[in-house]
Amino acid sequence: MARILIIEDNQANMQLMVYLLSAFGHKTVEATEGELGLAAAQRELPDLILCDLQMPGMDGYEVARRIRLEPQLQTISLVAVTAYAMAGDREKVLSAGFNGYISKPINPELFLGQVEAFLPLDKRSESSKPPNLQS
Ligand code: MN
Repeated sequence: MARILIIEDNQANMQLMVYLLSAFGHKTVEATEGELGLAAAQRELPDLILCDLQMPGMDGYEVARRIRLEPQLQTISLVAVTAYAMAGDREKVLSAGFNGYISKPINPELFLGQVEAFLPLDKRSESSKPPNLQS
């Protein structure tokens, strides 16, 4: 089980990510804009942060840069969730401080594995079991 902060302005995407992660026992914290996400990161010190790139106000790139400026947040896994799949974006995402990215639209069958690839083994769910058999 991991504590995962999700920074996402789109309500449908947020609900889907919360649902998929909660179903496998992860605890989620939700922030609907960048400023709130930064505050939540400092308050919660989560195991992992999922962050949308395109948000009004502070975008995901700026969120990443600010997170990496905070000594206590520098080692947290930070993953972009982005609809942008254009060449060159990967470098831009990584140079902003993200560890990697997951492409939108979110694929419900792949999402858990995509997220858990960024978690240490002891924070992953036993994802081969269906959710209703989790202890
Ligand atoms: Mn967005």
